[in-house]
Amino acid sequence: MDSTGLSGDSESRPSADAILARLSELRAGDAPTHGGHVLSYVYDSGLAELDELAGAAIAAMQPVNGLDPTTFGSVAVLEREVIDFMRDLLGAGPTADAADDQGDREVVGSVTTGGTESCLLAVKTARDLWRLGGGSGTPRLVAPVTVHAAFQKAAHYFGLDLDLVPVDPATGSCEPSAIIGRLGADVALVVISAPSYPFAALDPVEQVAAAAADAGISCHVDACIGGLALPFLPDLPPWDFRVRGVTSISADLHKYGYAPKGASVLLHRGRGRLGAQYFATTRWPGYPVVNPTMLGSRSAGPLAAAWAILHRLGRDGLARLAEDTMASTRELLAVVERIDGLRVIGSPVGPLFAVASDPRADQGRQVDPHHWADELRALGWLVQLQPSLRQGEEILPHTTHLTVTPVTSRILPELSAAMVLAADRVRGIPAVDPLAAMAALGGDPAAVVDGPLPERMAPLIALIGALPAETSEGLLTELLARLANPTRPSADPVLPGQ
Ligand SMILES: *Cc1c(COP(=O)(O)O)cnc(C)c1O
Repeated sequence: MDSTGLSGDSESRPSADAILARLSELRAGDAPTHGGHVLSYVYDSGLAELDELAGAAIAAMQPVNGLDPTTFGSVAVLEREVIDFMRDLLGAGPTADAADDQGDREVVGSVTTGGTESCLLAVKTARDLWRLGGGSGTPRLVAPVTVHAAFQKAAHYFGLDLDLVPVDPATGSCEPSAIIGRLGADVALVVISAPSYPFAALDPVEQVAAAAADAGISCHVDACIGGLALPFLPDLPPWDFRVRGVTSISADLHKYGYAPKGASVLLHRGRGRLGAQYFATTRWPGYPVVNPTMLGSRSAGPLAAAWAILHRLGRDGLARLAEDTMASTRELLAVVERIDGLRVIGSPVGPLFAVASDPRADQGRQVDPHHWADELRALGWLVQLQPSLRQGEEILPHTTHLTVTPVTSRILPELSAAMVLAADRVRGIPAVDPLAAMAALGGDPAAVVDGPLPERMAPLIALIGALPAETSEGLLTELLARLANPTRPSADPVLPGQ
């Protein structure tokens, strides 16, 4: 700890009060996690009671190690109940009727620490099953380009080739034939989303899963964001375990399950698949290691919080919150439709959507979605800027993403007015030219890592969209690494003698 009065010798260690006061001071500088002004990252149920319940559940589990449910039996009970609830919600039906086919149809799974871990494990499981089935060499993972980046991470960690299928730049969605045409013997896994994060497109689950089943290929539905919201929306095509060929589904409890961060589920069709998810070894002199997930020792707090919230809300509580959230989403979509110069990408499914500038409007009437996002930020609303992406010969446009939550309904008039005002303020201002953004950095993109974080994000994101991926990835890594590891003002070597 630093220059804040918190350091000192052993007699003058800071009091618990002083430490906590410093923590509150730091938290006060954060984006607000409650109240609906941040339209990404946080999922505010608007029910203070749920936050208190979750906090108490975390406190009750604080000293427990989730590593070993044989020592801490509570962990096994909580996990079992969460999995039961989610299995039912995701269309798997009761497990009893699976007894007669050796559990091949039975849906089973694990609670993980988040969507990324669920996605990583879905890929690892499919890769291991592909090898068990005789696959050799480098397996392929097929998915629309809109699949969550967690699958790029998984392919990188677990040694799969990523085969990303382009989507229609106007709608953000993908024809089933475009995905199915890529299936082959070297494909370990096809991933589709319900819905995709960037544009909220519901991928063609039925068609792709059926083709995957016929070819004997694993098919994962990433419902990390939709898993606890889509079950309550009417008239959707089936996308869950009711669909033949869907072999696993991920769903995040810490999104529309309103749990504190650190809770997600990964469910598989069949006990054999769950077995392939586990890592077990007795080949060391220590305790036998048998881990369903990536971590060893782990907190049981988020699991307990998610369990408590699911019990408190139940299906009907979740349904009410989802319906409220969808009503707000429809209202916001209508607001965007009325804004001259902006448009919604595709036909979003669920409580999220992305907006782009409207190519049908005259040049002088277009609203650049990133200037709009920066203006909303200046007005006190945080929305998420998504860079443009080169996809073969085409470019997916840069967009701005909004995630709607139950609390949004309380601030709809203010938010709608801010959306309109922000658009009025930037209408006709052309998108940031990446070359101009580059010139502002003195021609050296590496200069982005030197200054303070910018007030306006549009130039930085324009640069990211235009630079070669290796360059932007390198720069952003440096930028983020420096937040926790600031470079010293002097150019001293970190280790003497270097
Ligand atoms: C959020 C999300 C993920 C990743 O989840 P984390 O909890 O952030 O690790 C994966 N897929 C989709 C569709 C998501 O929305």
